[in-house]
Amino acid sequence: MIENLISRYVRHLNQRLMAFGPEPGEVRLPDPDPDKRYLLYLHIPFCVVLCPFCSFHRVEFRKDKATQYFEALQREIRSVTERGYQFGELYIGGGTPTVMPDALAETIELVSKLHSVSSISVETNPHDLDAQKLNQLKQTGVNRLSVGVQSFDDSLLKEMQRYEKYGSGEEIGEHLRGVSGLFDTLNVDMIFNFPHQSEAILKSDLAVLTDKLLVDQVSWYPLMTAASTSRPMARRIGNVDHSRARKYYEVIAEHMLAAGYERASAWCFSRCPGMFDEYIVGHEEYVGLGSGSFSYVNGTMYANTFSINNYVRLINEGLTGAVQKREMTLFEQMRYYLLMRMFGGHLDLDIAEKRFDGQFGKLMWRDIAGLRAIGAIRKASDQLALTESGYFLWVILMREFFSGVNNFRDDMRHNISREPRRV
Ligand code: SF4
Repeated sequence: MIENLISRYVRHLNQRLMAFGPEPGEVRLPDPDPDKRYLLYLHIPFCVVLCPFCSFHRVEFRKDKATQYFEALQREIRSVTERGYQFGELYIGGGTPTVMPDALAETIELVSKLHSVSSISVETNPHDLDAQKLNQLKQTGVNRLSVGVQSFDDSLLKEMQRYEKYGSGEEIGEHLRGVSGLFDTLNVDMIFNFPHQSEAILKSDLAVLTDKLLVDQVSWYPLMTAASTSRPMARRIGNVDHSRARKYYEVIAEHMLAAGYERASAWCFSRCPGMFDEYIVGHEEYVGLGSGSFSYVNGTMYANTFSINNYVRLINEGLTGAVQKREMTLFEQMRYYLLMRMFGGHLDLDIAEKRFDGQFGKLMWRDIAGLRAIGAIRKASDQLALTESGYFLWVILMREFFSGVNNFRDDMRHNISREPRRV
């Protein structure tokens, strides 16, 4: 019942947040605040295998396309730098950012040359964990590596079509052992609530992570869908039963907390302080470059084209990769702020009031009262904090939020032919 209410709340929020409109002219980020150092996100959309459950912006790897893409991305980095943007942290996600290690290293070096970045996080897949690639990443200053594993169970890996390319659970474990201690943080991405994932499989995966591999950080994502992936996913891995999600999350949280991990977000458990995948929790504003990335600056969300060809063309013509934008009302900005801060477990009300010129409590009281009434959050002096059951509700909330983003990605892909072709 409460989960349904939460889902409805987020769908309503998504409908508004994702109501982007095509822009007739060039879409440009606003001038930067010279006193700010923004977070920079770079999207590398290429993968050697397209997993059936995945709704991210990803395309099959082709060396010629990827080469052009990295060149355009580097051009876009130079261009936002010339406009005065300064970046303090770098996240590179995908897709599989490590598909072309030399081009990736060159891109990271370019960002480091132009900006003093204090931390660099890169996503990768198990088959890229060889000594040469890892040392190359280490030398470029990468201090957090996030590896997409999803499960160590061979039958699930086969269903996901990952077994053949990324190896068995045993082999993936061996690769991860080789990375241990190399970076400040080694994060492993896992998924829970696969249709054929029994509780015994889940518990076995938990034991591998915390008892055998002792990884620094684990992000446990609930299985998410999008309109475009739900059918192929159902054919390949079965139908998702959302009613099991709570039970599975409780098993995960109990195990991870007992093993000495702390929550960095509702679904990320960490043994060390530092970066985690959900940079949106700690960075209200961010700049996303590359095809399929989003930026959020000055209360406006910007979406880059999902067409690799159009992206390369736009950048080569001296334009930006952004093709749509959505200006949020003050109320929407506050809701987004509340959603993201609470995803990290707590929200400082004093900071929120300062951020929104004393309007936060006045405009958000209904949302806050509702969330308190269903037991999702509690108030302690000047802090809002998630309750134990609130952590699970926030997992549902964020699952719905990202499913909405996935549907938006579907729309962007379908509408590629209608994007303006500027000359
Ligand atoms: S799950 Fe990772 S490797 Fe698989 S298609 Fe998505 S981004 Fe690529």
